[in-house]
Amino acid sequence: MDLACRFVKNDIISLYKNLLAREKGYLKKDWGGKFSIALAYPNSYRVGMSNMGFQVVYQLINRRPDVVAERVFLPQGRELDIYNRTGGAIRSLESQVPLQQFDIIAFSIPFENDYPNVLKILELGKIPLLAEDRSGSWPFVMAGGVTSFLNPEPLSMFVDFFLLGEAEANMDRFIDLFADAIGFYNKKRNNKTKQEIISYLNNNEPSLYVPSLYRVEYNSDGTLKAFVPKKGNCKETVDVAKVVPLKGDVALSSIVTPETEFADKIIVELSRGCGCSCRFCAAGYVYRPPRTYRKEELEKAIAKALESSHHIGMLSACVSDVPGIDDLTGMILEHGGVFSVSSLRADTLTAGLLDNLKKAGQRTVTIAPEAGSERLRRVINKHLTRDQIVDAVRLIAKRDFNIKLYLLIGLPTEVQDDIHEIVDLVKVIKHTVVKESAPRGRIAQLTLSINCFIPKPFTPFQWSKMDAINVLKEKQKYLKAAFKKEGGIRVHTDVPKWAYIQTLLSVGDRTVGQTILMAHKSGGNWSRAMPFSKINPDFFVYRSKEINEILPWDFINNGIEKKHLVREYHSALKNEETPMCKVGRCARCGVCKESL
Ligand code: SF4
Ligand code: SF4
Repeated sequence: MDLACRFVKNDIISLYKNLLAREKGYLKKDWGGKFSIALAYPNSYRVGMSNMGFQVVYQLINRRPDVVAERVFLPQGRELDIYNRTGGAIRSLESQVPLQQFDIIAFSIPFENDYPNVLKILELGKIPLLAEDRSGSWPFVMAGGVTSFLNPEPLSMFVDFFLLGEAEANMDRFIDLFADAIGFYNKKRNNKTKQEIISYLNNNEPSLYVPSLYRVEYNSDGTLKAFVPKKGNCKETVDVAKVVPLKGDVALSSIVTPETEFADKIIVELSRGCGCSCRFCAAGYVYRPPRTYRKEELEKAIAKALESSHHIGMLSACVSDVPGIDDLTGMILEHGGVFSVSSLRADTLTAGLLDNLKKAGQRTVTIAPEAGSERLRRVINKHLTRDQIVDAVRLIAKRDFNIKLYLLIGLPTEVQDDIHEIVDLVKVIKHTVVKESAPRGRIAQLTLSINCFIPKPFTPFQWSKMDAINVLKEKQKYLKAAFKKEGGIRVHTDVPKWAYIQTLLSVGDRTVGQTILMAHKSGGNWSRAMPFSKINPDFFVYRSKEINEILPWDFINNGIEKKHLVREYHSALKNEETPMCKVGRCARCGVCKESL
């Protein structure tokens, strides 16, 4: 071991041991007789440990006796200083093993903006960034998480293969295949080349996508002409694995740590997907069909979670839609616990749930009108009238909660009148809040979170463009000025420049990989990277796509028929609403047709 390695090892060991000492529930397995997976989250420990999907994969892999999975995060602060000072390679948290020594590096990537961090982790691990430079004995680099089954193409230069879908549905099968491919079960690793192992995985796992096995051809205008398997026996589409119906153990976060946004809280997943069919919402589409666990399973999971922490975080796109939610939250309170939820749907809020939330000590309730005008809410298929929003605000304000509203600007078909109507709606809401809460001597706080619309794959707005940055800035300026005049309203807005980057990474094709590489080489400075990029990012961000053009993610089969998305897009342009999901009674999008 050279001197640098020894320094990094000593400092990092003590730093990571301190971090582990503050955790409850992590696993430190013996490495003997197992193969190894570095489970990498492309952001800080704090952000990664707040991610339920990351924690679920960690448990899923580690419950197997033949594998050891250890966590790796993007180093921050002192930790990063140690690596930079010593030049040592980044190590795993549990056993402080250098990244190169793992068999597989598996990235879990829920957010596109973290793509450059994938490259940072590989670089800090002294691992070649490009998949084509990692033949031989380098670890396999794979990726999963929702970005992989929305559109994996921008990362395709860097990743050997993607596993598409919900980990509970394909992770075990993948690990069995991998073990088989490397000869693990024969107690002696075979001499298969990396490419042979990848081909074997590709041939046997329907949800595995290997970018290097596909050739992309382009038209002269830069749109895709063809996306074709290089070999005749390679699958033409890649399936997204899903657990339908939701069964088995309810997903719970297993590691409790004070160092997360959900400090010392256990997160319980109540449901997956959402049947509201909002046309901008990727989660509402790619997690179809909407599913909930059975009430008895949830009761069991909550009882188990209460053994580890008295604070339960309820995870669901629509907590208020979960059958029996009033009883479940009542059960937590009866056991001396407390709970919290993220946002609630205004049209399904109940007094019972709000009363329980109050008893649990939650101070703020969030609802999401998204748009100011009735017309634009029909365009996005929000199924929410002004009266329903105001009724919900009344229910919330009566109980002295602070209120937070999510709003979007730059939505398809939006005109200036829709922006004015945001101001009108918020004024009505504020008036309702004051009327309901003033008699009790305290005016509830009203906060707005105003975000830029980003077109997402597999939604009816996948063909739409993002609003121009300068136009979005003007809209933000107008809204901030209007609410300042009104007074008593806090306003948070996102940064249009970052929305632009997120759009590029969400809907770009594999050529965008070059820009990610340039951004990485520019120390994460996209403005410096863009001029050196061979692509014109506006082509992806500011161009409405033709309905019949090939989209970079068309090869992914998640059960949603493209013709359904086209119908929904056209309905949006005509200001028309279409029904929400009616699981068991509907086959409209194609996902449930086999179950009817
Ligand atoms: S209510 Fe709409 S925006 Fe919210 S999760 Fe469901 S589909 Fe998405
Ligand atoms: S088939 Fe109907 S119920 Fe099933 S996911 Fe599609 S829209 Fe929803």
